[in-house]
Amino acid sequence: METPTREELIRELKNHLTYLKDVGYTEIPCTEELLTNPSQDTSRRSLSTNIMSKKSLAAVKKELGDCTRCKLSKGRKNIVFGSGNPNADLVFVGEGPGADEDEQGLPFVGRSGKKLTEIIEKGMGLNREKDTYICNIVKCRPPGNRDPEPDEVSACNPFLIEQLGAIKPKVIVALGKPASSTLLGRTVPIVKERGTWHEYAGIKLMLTFHPSYLIRFYTLENRKAVHEDMKKVLKELAR
Ligand code: URA
Repeated sequence: METPTREELIRELKNHLTYLKDVGYTEIPCTEELLTNPSQDTSRRSLSTNIMSKKSLAAVKKELGDCTRCKLSKGRKNIVFGSGNPNADLVFVGEGPGADEDEQGLPFVGRSGKKLTEIIEKGMGLNREKDTYICNIVKCRPPGNRDPEPDEVSACNPFLIEQLGAIKPKVIVALGKPASSTLLGRTVPIVKERGTWHEYAGIKLMLTFHPSYLIRFYTLENRKAVHEDMKKVLKELAR
């Protein structure tokens, strides 16, 4: 990966701090040693390591526990934390569990999961379990599969941040508008912005359509669009 310039690092840090503030963080836990003896290594990876979680994925899951931080906990059967390789270079972030996911405690195991697996395995030639990690912006099923509400996203977001910080993938793919908007901290017009690169705490972020959108609007144009987006992701992973 190319070494970023000082200006890029400062911009990236500023964006991320603004985002953390927006989602409710009032302080960043930081050791005194880090403040008095900043590392000379200014690679992207080390920047994201410093401002993101140093916890393991297992520790993040333990901290989430039997969560009752938001109202979604009342209607869920199972927390859907995430699944796949904790060291994956590629992470897909969806919206929230549906009925099948809630039943099994695993992300993307229903109809849209089948489509996502097809995109990963047939489209990209990767293995879903070995090559990727998959999670959602909220870990409990929104009733009737409605979009997660802002208070629910805010309650879950610290865990998403720590989850991504623990995995530190090369590329994150946001699936659909809610995931894209949460990761970028602004409302994303997904039809306009899919296929474009962004950054999330120093990690390359690609926006694409949600598999359920592809199922609903199964046009050649939409399928081609996701195919093109995933080609860009594969190219980045190979760099
Ligand atoms: N849709 C999502 O966004 N996530 C899932 O886990 C399943 C369906």
